[in-house]
Amino acid sequence: QMAASFCRTTCAFIWMFGVVSATRVYPPNEVTLLDTRTVPGELKWAANPTEGGWEEVSIMDEKNIPIRTYQVCNVMEPSQSNWLRTDWIPRSGAQRVYVEIKFTLRDCNSLPGVTGTCKETFNLYYYESNNDREHYIRESNFLKIDTVAADESFTQVDIGDRIMKLNTEVRNVKVTTRKGFYLAFQDVGACIALISVHVFYKTCPLTIRNLATFPDTNTGADTSSLVEVRGSCVNQSEEREEPKMYCGADGEWLVPIGGCVCNLGYEENGGACQVCKVGFYRAVSTDGACSECPPHSHSEKAGTTVCDCNPGYYRSETDPASMPCTQPPSAPQQLISEVNETSVVLEWSVPLRLGGRTDIRYSVDCLLGSPDRPLGAQLCLPCGPDVLFSPQQSGLGATRVCVSELQAHTRYTFTIGARNGVSQGHTAGARESVSVTLTTNQAAPSPVMSIQASDVTRHGVSLAWQQPDRPNGVILEYEVKYYEKERSYRIMKTASRSADITWLNPLTVYVFHVRARTAAGYGEFSVPFEFSTNSDPLPLIGNAANSTLLLLSISGGVVLLLISTTVFIITERILMRASLHPFQFIFSNHSPPPPLLPSPSEGVRIYVDPFTYEDPDQAVHEFAKEIDASNIHIEKVIGIGEFGEVCSGCLRLQGKREIYVAIKSLKAGYADKQRRNFLSEASIMGQFDHPNIIRLEGVVTRCKPVMIITEYMENGSLNTFLRKHDGQFTVIQLVGMLRGIVSGMKYLSDMSYVHRDLAARNILVNSNLVCKVSDFGLSRVLEDESEAAYTTRIPIRWTAPEAIAYRKFTPASDTWSYGVVMWEVMSYGERPYWDMSNQDVIKAIDEGYRLPPPMDCPACLHQLMLDCWQRDRTHRPSFTQILNILDKLIRNPTNTLRRTGGERPVPTLLEPVGGPEFVSVWSVEYWLQAIGMDMYRDTLTAAGYTSPDSLLTLTQQDMASIGIVTPSHQDQILASVQQVLLSHMQQIQEQMQDSMVPV
Ligand code: AMP
Repeated sequence: QMAASFCRTTCAFIWMFGVVSATRVYPPNEVTLLDTRTVPGELKWAANPTEGGWEEVSIMDEKNIPIRTYQVCNVMEPSQSNWLRTDWIPRSGAQRVYVEIKFTLRDCNSLPGVTGTCKETFNLYYYESNNDREHYIRESNFLKIDTVAADESFTQVDIGDRIMKLNTEVRNVKVTTRKGFYLAFQDVGACIALISVHVFYKTCPLTIRNLATFPDTNTGADTSSLVEVRGSCVNQSEEREEPKMYCGADGEWLVPIGGCVCNLGYEENGGACQVCKVGFYRAVSTDGACSECPPHSHSEKAGTTVCDCNPGYYRSETDPASMPCTQPPSAPQQLISEVNETSVVLEWSVPLRLGGRTDIRYSVDCLLGSPDRPLGAQLCLPCGPDVLFSPQQSGLGATRVCVSELQAHTRYTFTIGARNGVSQGHTAGARESVSVTLTTNQAAPSPVMSIQASDVTRHGVSLAWQQPDRPNGVILEYEVKYYEKERSYRIMKTASRSADITWLNPLTVYVFHVRARTAAGYGEFSVPFEFSTNSDPLPLIGNAANSTLLLLSISGGVVLLLISTTVFIITERILMRASLHPFQFIFSNHSPPPPLLPSPSEGVRIYVDPFTYEDPDQAVHEFAKEIDASNIHIEKVIGIGEFGEVCSGCLRLQGKREIYVAIKSLKAGYADKQRRNFLSEASIMGQFDHPNIIRLEGVVTRCKPVMIITEYMENGSLNTFLRKHDGQFTVIQLVGMLRGIVSGMKYLSDMSYVHRDLAARNILVNSNLVCKVSDFGLSRVLEDESEAAYTTRIPIRWTAPEAIAYRKFTPASDTWSYGVVMWEVMSYGERPYWDMSNQDVIKAIDEGYRLPPPMDCPACLHQLMLDCWQRDRTHRPSFTQILNILDKLIRNPTNTLRRTGGERPVPTLLEPVGGPEFVSVWSVEYWLQAIGMDMYRDTLTAAGYTSPDSLLTLTQQDMASIGIVTPSHQDQILASVQQVLLSHMQQIQEQMQDSMVPV
């Protein structure tokens, strides 16, 4: 009865809350083995005792579906042991099963009249078995899982005067030994209703991670076990790294490792690999999605890994699939050749079409002859291995190549081919190339290499040498140039490969150079060969070093030396006028070679005085190229030179770009001597090749007017240019110009050339402010002048005192002039020594005065000028030293170029270099200071005595009237005026007449 009333209460509770609804949704990782709520019909579990123990009761859930429950409530009787056993439950591979029991349990206190027999727990057992048909409950076989009690988490519901509690308890147990198991509930005297029993196990459900499929996996036997599972790649994918995951005890996948990637031609989409559509491709496994085919390519089917190139387009083996398809280049354009003796510079422009690629490379084919010769003519042959290509013959990245070591006077055909990564086998080579046929020029022979001396005597030596490696023609003669160190040189010519040099001084070191000449002109001189004549009167075979050991007694040697020197000088004079056969002597009467000869290893190129040639045309054609006048297009007159107009215009030589040139022409009606002097400038200029020396393009001598063509210098001469841009340059820019000039001068002095007329007016400036030394006319001209003409033509203000005084022109006298150029540059083209007369300049220099620093001129630059103006020429710096100094200044401008030496306005006085005891006569102020009368400065200037002319009129009375009353002062002032100022005034007058220095 009690049980019945309990049942009603319980049922009412279940009914009300529907907590055991049969239509339950299971989590995806739980697999149900038994759920009493879903069993249709009665459960009919085994019970012991079969009567009075557990009793099956049907109840309805909220949807009116019947569910099965078991109830027992023997609370009044002692020693209860009521067993209820489930049917056999197959474990279906599970290793651990979970039992969820929903039950209600009456609180013993709530039952009226119960004794100590009432319990509030029950026991849960299991028994693993393969036998699914055990009829009886063999209690001893069962193992206890747990004692289950109602716990605090009971749902408490007030129903009338009672509190009902629905309890859910879950236990788990490892079941691994048999195919299935039984569960049993032992009631020991409680009032319980088992509302539902749900038996399940947990799985990690099928999943796809990193394109790998992981199957439905039962969790492990232990609560902490992880089951390692290997995934398998989804369709159209392949393993990148073994895909693995772990199935955790709670049915969750853990720690995914590795994975798969879609095959090429497929892309990942939602965990699967999807084929690339037509027009798309996927070529690299690291790329994510399919990409559209690159330009000039296509795909015709789905799943393309590389798109095919459209017709006429190609892909090289190394081109990535993502790159557009490309084409071979078209032919190079505008091939220009420039022949220089036996080398050719070929330049061309990039092809019109590069085919969409950047890997264009050029190659040069060289054939001897011309392919378009008439039938039967000489066949074209490859050029052979001697020809050198710089930087290389094939695989050229740049559009320029220099081909050298060609044969002189030979016809060659050069073909420039262009290729790129897709040229191979796709087009005929001819369509991608451009050719030029040309003829090399005559070339000078290569330098004479080894010179041997024999028969060394007191006055002579026999020299012999080998033919140059590359004669480049028939050697017509050899030229032997020799000199005593620090003395003028002599030249001897011979047709054989030996020469007997005589009339040498005994016991003297001589330097020899030999060069060969062909129809194409002279080759370079050999490296210097030095040896010493000996003192033995008899011929002596031996080398130079040995010969120096054979010294006679000093007194005897001195006597001999004196005699031989006298003989030598006389002979020299005689020979100068004679033309000797087979040896011809030419004495250089220009300045001696530079004191410092380059070391033999550097080789020497020494300037050759064109006046040593009998035929001036021969000299000019040796060093200058004859240009056909039809190639010159004169545009306008830009200046007036000594021999005629200077014009600008264009020069167009075959196969070369048109260039802008300056054209100097020799005015009509010239004398032979003038023509010779005019062309000598070209003969000199043509020997030089330096960025700071004006470049000779060529000469026109075969028709009139005779012309000299040089590179065009857009900014004209430096002095006018600076005056036009007064104050507009930075010190660094000015020093940059000076550096260029000194670099050119160093080159000239290295070549033993002394300029003699270095001045800003003879420096030309191009559009990049590059300064170049020009005007090579004066050096020779001065030689021929009579004494009077000489002194009037010499550019006094620029010329070193020793050169003015006794024509001592040396690199050191050029250094002096360079100092003046420095001053001109730093003062923006100011006239050196302003309006002083030439005589005053000479005098002032002699007295020790030097030009003051121009305005804003850094002190170090003025110091360098002063160094160039050292009276003793051996104390002046060499051009190499000046170049180094300027380079240092340019490199470290902030420290050195900032300090200026002259902030004052441009003074009209000279700086005394010897200290305050020197007097300048060209300023009232300095003059008074020097004679110790500077207290009268204001007095004299206030009275208008500010110039030398005004002072000349000064009398004793004038002085007394303005306040200079001390007789001794008056005398001193008047004496000085007479002595110094008067002579100055005379010089000013002379200067007015002095028109021979057109500066
Ligand atoms: P010259 O006879 O060399 O002193 O030339 C006279 C003038 O012609 C110079 O002062 C320059 O103004 C001008 N001149 C000479 N050569 C060139 C050149 N290569 N480029 C530009 N101007 C030049």
